[in-house]
Amino acid sequence: MVAAEKLACTVRGMRDLVGEDARVFDHILARMQEMACRYGYEHIEMPVLENTAIFARTLGEETDVVSKEMFSFEDRSGNALSLRPEGTASAVRALLCNKLTQTLPQRWFYYGQMFRYDRPQKGRYRQFFQFGVEYIGAKAPLSDVELIAMAHGILRGLGLSSVTLRLNSIGDKKSRQAYREKLLAYFARYRNDLSPDSQRRLEENTLRILDSKEESDQKIAEGAPSILDSLNTESRKFFDDVCQGLEQLQIPYEQDRLLVRGLDYYDHTTFEFTCPLGDGGSSIAVAGGGRYNGLVKQMGGPETPAVGLAFGIDRIMLACDRGQLKSAPIVTVLFVGEAERLNALALAEDLRSRCPFAIILPVDGDLTKRLRHSAKLGAACALILGEAECAAGQVKCKFLKPAPGSPEGSEETITAADASGFLIDKLADAISK
Ligand code: AMP
Repeated sequence: MVAAEKLACTVRGMRDLVGEDARVFDHILARMQEMACRYGYEHIEMPVLENTAIFARTLGEETDVVSKEMFSFEDRSGNALSLRPEGTASAVRALLCNKLTQTLPQRWFYYGQMFRYDRPQKGRYRQFFQFGVEYIGAKAPLSDVELIAMAHGILRGLGLSSVTLRLNSIGDKKSRQAYREKLLAYFARYRNDLSPDSQRRLEENTLRILDSKEESDQKIAEGAPSILDSLNTESRKFFDDVCQGLEQLQIPYEQDRLLVRGLDYYDHTTFEFTCPLGDGGSSIAVAGGGRYNGLVKQMGGPETPAVGLAFGIDRIMLACDRGQLKSAPIVTVLFVGEAERLNALALAEDLRSRCPFAIILPVDGDLTKRLRHSAKLGAACALILGEAECAAGQVKCKFLKPAPGSPEGSEETITAADASGFLIDKLADAISK
C-alpha cells in the first residue's frame, strides 16, 4: 500500500514548475534555442534512458556522478540502464548510432531533464534541466571562443548580473601526465589530511582531488602546483589562442587553475560561468563545459575533436532578472450579451492569427466578473463587444494597463477590422524582443 501522503508529493529533489516559474522557464528555453540557432546549431532529441555503460565508461567510474549519483536499474530483461546524468556522452552515442562521424562538423543543441542522486538544496535538484550545446568535429581554438561567447551572450541577455567566467586548460594527455606526477608528489605529502574519497583517488585519479567539494581537500588544493606550468608548447598555444579570442571579443574571464571539472573526458579548455545567488550566499555554477577531443574515439569512433557546454536552467531561473523577461502581452475579448458571443469568438480567432499576443476569451460569469478576471490575468487591455459595437462593425478597447497615449482605465472605440493593427501599435513596447 502506498501511504496516502505519497500521492500528493513529488519524489525528493524533483519538482513541478507552475505559474510564473513555468513562464520564466519557457522564456529562458526560447532564448537559448533562438541564440543557438543563430550560431548555426540544430536541435537533437535524445532518450532520457541510456545503457549504463555509456556513462560509466566515459565520465569515469571514479567520478561522483557515476559512483554515487546515477539513477540506475535493471529493466525487465536484465539490461543495465540509467537515467541520463548529463548530455555529452549521449550526444556522442547519437553521433555513432546515426553514423555521422563522416559528416562533420555537427553542431547540436538539446534540452531536457538530467538526473543525479545528489543531496537536494537550493539550486541543486535530483531532476534538473539542462540546455546543452555540442560542436563535434571542431578543432580550432576559435570554436571554443565562439561557444563561450554564445554562452556569455545568452546569460547577459537573460539579465544575470555579476556572472564570472572561470577559465582553465588541463592541456593534452601528455601535459596532464606530466602534471599528474607533480600533483601526486604534492598531495602525497598531505595524504592523511585528505578526505577518504581523495585518499582513494590519490593514485588513480589525482586531478580529481582539485575538484573535491570537501573543505579540507579544498584547503590543501589551494597550495597545489598549477597545471598551466605543466602545459607543453602545443597545449599552451591552444590556451593562449582561446584567451586571445576572448580578449578580442572583450569577454572578461578569470583564470582558475583549480578548474578541472568533474568528468573524465575533458582536455584542453575547461570553463564555468558562476554567479552569486542574490541572497549574499556563495556563487553557483550556472553553466560549464570544455573540450573533449578523446571522447568519440573512446566510445569506438574515429579520433574527433569536439567542444561543448551545458547550462543549468533551474539555476538560471534563480539568478536571472525576472522583471526583464517580458512575456507576450495578454488581450482579452469580452462579449456583453449572448447575442455577441459568436462575434467575439470569431474576433479572438482572427486576432490570434494576426498578433503576437495571448488572446484570451473568458466565457463564464457576467461582464464585470470577466473584466475582473482580465485584470487578474494581467491583460494589457480588454476588447468589449456590445450590441451597438457589433452593429457598427466596431469594438471598444478598455486599457487595463497604461499604453502610449492611452492611460489606464481609458477606452477607445475602433473598427473591428483594424483591431490587430491598433493593438500592435499600442502594445509594441510590451512585445518581448
Ligand atoms: P555539469 O554537467 O556538471 O557540467 O553541469 C552543467 C550545469 O548543470 C551546471 O553548471 C549547473 O548549472 C547545472 N547542474 C548540474 N547539476 C545540477 C543539479 N543537481 N541541480 C541543478 N543544476 C545542476
